[in-house]
Amino acid sequence: MTATATRVLVLNSGSSSVKYQLLDMADGRRLAVGLVERIGEENSRLAHTPLATGGEKRETEGAIADHETALKTVAAELSADGLGLDSPQLAAIGHRVVHGGLRFTEPTVIDGAVLKEIERLVPVAPLHNPANITGIRTAQALRPDLPQVAVFDTAFHSTMPEYAARYAIDVETADAHRVRRYGFHGTSHAYVSRRTAALLGKDPSEVNVIVLHLGNGASASAVAGGRCVDTSMGLTPLEGLVMGTRSGDIDPAVTFHLKRVAGMSADEIDELLNKKSGLLGLCGDNDMREIRRRIDEGDERAALAFDIYIHRLKKYIGAYYAVLGRVDAVVFTAGVGENAAPVREAAVAGLEELGLAVDAGLNAVRSDEPRLISPEYARVAVAVVPTDEELEIAQQTYALVSA
Ligand code: ADP
Repeated sequence: MTATATRVLVLNSGSSSVKYQLLDMADGRRLAVGLVERIGEENSRLAHTPLATGGEKRETEGAIADHETALKTVAAELSADGLGLDSPQLAAIGHRVVHGGLRFTEPTVIDGAVLKEIERLVPVAPLHNPANITGIRTAQALRPDLPQVAVFDTAFHSTMPEYAARYAIDVETADAHRVRRYGFHGTSHAYVSRRTAALLGKDPSEVNVIVLHLGNGASASAVAGGRCVDTSMGLTPLEGLVMGTRSGDIDPAVTFHLKRVAGMSADEIDELLNKKSGLLGLCGDNDMREIRRRIDEGDERAALAFDIYIHRLKKYIGAYYAVLGRVDAVVFTAGVGENAAPVREAAVAGLEELGLAVDAGLNAVRSDEPRLISPEYARVAVAVVPTDEELEIAQQTYALVSA
């Protein structure tokens, strides 16, 4: 790395998409952002915005066969703006890797052994780690000389005490198959809990925070003095809150029941619980905007879906209140948490005895800034803090390679 190398490219490789951002860590500025979607289909789409040059978003459609072609296309887009991957200013590439298992609790420079270990984790993250691995291999082929860093979704949760991380099942069986609670969205929970402490004018070590990351996927975490002590997702991102298309918590016997009574296979039940459940399964829509619109029109199914979503959320607030003992802030983040005022209002309604309340006026304000929405008298702060997983990945990557 040269003295002038301050840029980090962040790659989030999904099974059929690649999201990317190029950031300059000298000032935290975003130089370019973009997304390649529908990789492997005829109508793949690339949207690229060169923020550094103030250029307009450029959108192109056409077949992009695989991740390698996708990354090469992204590299060409960046080059067109003088931001190419061959630039000496590029310090590293930071990859979001979903599952780090027990081994990876910190951002890690990727070498052959690390890549092998990420591969070994595929059985516990079959939907995510393979795509992450493809992204890493492709980026390595493009810039073999450049440090590539893996930032794991599970890492922030590795501080969970054993009694929160273990399921109450036979220990030998659990250990033989690495069955335990790992948690996900860790990069977001880390970033948001730290930003919340800053919003309160405190050091992260001084505050206890309940983070509610409510996007299409959703998870809650209890963060004590900057360390995660519990989180709602488990072995996979299926456990916990009601999500866009995932059921969240469910009696495991439902799966045996569906197998025995409905003759469904493991794959069919997997698909049902991950892709056809949650808000979508309950009312046919998984977008909170659409659900609110239907509720305003008097739609009862949408109203019931909303109530189920809120009931689960409230149970986790209560549970993590008890886990933490003292709570300084409850913070909402991600697509639903940052934008859906009715969700925030309903989740906290009736919890005044716990010191929790939302000020209707503050809650209605739309903003991209971290902000408090609780009334001044409230004992516990309620906040909205927009998440920024890419910035967090870039910071962790840069800190590692510039150390
Ligand atoms: P992902 O989990 O895919 O990263 P996001 O964090 O971007 O998702 O959240 C996406 C979800 O946020 C959408 O499915 C929608 O339910 C919700 N959302 C986005 N904007 C709004 C809005 N203005 N009002 C209510 N909900 C919103």
